[in-house]
Amino acid sequence: MPIKGWIEVNDLYCKGCELCVAACPQNVLALDLDQLTPKGYHPARLITAGCTGCNICAIVCPDAAITVYREARQKNKVAINA
Ligand code: SF4
Ligand code: SF4
Repeated sequence: MPIKGWIEVNDLYCKGCELCVAACPQNVLALDLDQLTPKGYHPARLITAGCTGCNICAIVCPDAAITVYREARQKNKVAINA
């Protein structure tokens, strides 16, 4: 069974630079062109299933806007970069 992960983007910090979109090996990120952050940027969002919780997006984000979660074997939710 593939590892299941997901992310949360803090819209107060995201500036829509797309570095996370380009870096995601699963191609599951994109800017949400229907939303604007408080600063007026289109924020990054998960657009489909397939996130593995690899944390690469959080590492490349220059504004520390991404928190990554990965489903633990015991089905607990664990923040791996909080
Ligand atoms: S944790 Fe990995 S797979 Fe998930 S969105 Fe970020 S870069 Fe993509
Ligand atoms: S790398 Fe960070 S600031 Fe840039 S689009 Fe992704 S979440 Fe937003």
